[in-house]
Amino acid sequence: MTSLLEPPAPTAPVKVGRLVDQFEKGLDAPICLTWELTYACNLSCVHCLSSSGKRDPRELTTEQCKAIIDELQRMQVFYVNIGGGEPTVRSDFWELVDYATEHQVGVKFSTNGVRIDKKVAERLAASDYVDVQISLDGATAEVNDAVRGPGSFAMAVRALENLAEAGFRDAKISVVVTRQNVDQLDEFKALADRYGATLRITRLRPSGRAVDVWDDLHPTHEQQRQLYDWLVAHGEGVLTGDSFFHLSAFGGEGGGSLPGLNLCGAGRVVCLIDPVGDVYACPFAIHDNFHAGNILTDGGFASVWKNSDLFRELREPQSAGACASCTFFDSCRGGCMAAKFFTGLPMDGPDPECVQGYGQAALEGERTVPQSSVDHSRTGKRAERRTPAAPVPLTLLTKPPAKFCDENPLAGL
Ligand code: SF4
Ligand code: SF4
Repeated sequence: MTSLLEPPAPTAPVKVGRLVDQFEKGLDAPICLTWELTYACNLSCVHCLSSSGKRDPRELTTEQCKAIIDELQRMQVFYVNIGGGEPTVRSDFWELVDYATEHQVGVKFSTNGVRIDKKVAERLAASDYVDVQISLDGATAEVNDAVRGPGSFAMAVRALENLAEAGFRDAKISVVVTRQNVDQLDEFKALADRYGATLRITRLRPSGRAVDVWDDLHPTHEQQRQLYDWLVAHGEGVLTGDSFFHLSAFGGEGGGSLPGLNLCGAGRVVCLIDPVGDVYACPFAIHDNFHAGNILTDGGFASVWKNSDLFRELREPQSAGACASCTFFDSCRGGCMAAKFFTGLPMDGPDPECVQGYGQAALEGERTVPQSSVDHSRTGKRAERRTPAAPVPLTLLTKPPAKFCDENPLAGL
């Protein structure tokens, strides 16, 4: 497995040693910066963490984006993860990618593959500073399309084929592990091998539209163990974005931690810039409670990163709370802040997927799931939220659009 620092920042301003101690206090610049360029998207995945669909009319202009890139260059942010929405639907997307790489900011972008035709694949293969991550949540069309929408598997595979044919080396296949696809991990690996790609698997967080479907999609306790065992046995060369550190406790006291940063990096080494310049502590925490500031109104990104009250607070030593007496605390650290928040669990308590089962017990008790602050879904309708007392079945897309972009994702501009 490879850690959160993927790809590694060539000369990041940290020394090897107790990296965790330095990370806990925060760094001068984020190591893992996600920038969602647009909320527009041609798909409507049921678990979209940013509730994407419609473009926000306040979306940053090309010039505003370039000014942010200039600032990232000055801060020595060596690469940025670009996502969305579907970032390639922005008409200035390639201009911004070129601008970033010309200013020593490498780009890794996530896409559903909609714009990765043969010509684009050739263009990408010619660059050393751009990495491509194709999202796929099933190793078969049946499993994938149930959550990402009809035709989305074929679209992603076509993109992978185009990249492989063009000679693009080491694309990433990015998989959110769910109850439905956890049995397909070997198949995902085989798919990645077929296209000369690297498999990247990440945790399903209950944020964005996934708040509504998390109860039905997140792996069961037995599947969490299955996932941990698979990572231990086959994880070499598989990227995880450090998102499974809460599973480290399966390794027992004093050992078995999964490699990587066993720590929530929100606001310390991780953050998100959204399409209108709002900065959040983490890509999985798009909510007013984790809003650190706005680049346009709060003096730029560097100022928000350094001075935001929220980030200062997150960089203070955190109380272990209810997890303090747990023998696995050093490897698990109480799990993911976003996962706790969006399932309505106390922030100083166990993760909802705590391997000791404390999270499950908490989920069965009284809790209030917070409302989203942001929703760009095209239908304007979200799946009815499930409460512990009133289960609501998962709502999946069953009717294909007549064609992709049938509903213009740029509508509203
Ligand atoms: S909130 Fe969760 S996903 Fe975000 S950095 Fe912390 S642990 Fe990772
Ligand atoms: S009790 Fe807390 S620290 Fe222990 S395994 Fe569960 S979430 Fe992790």
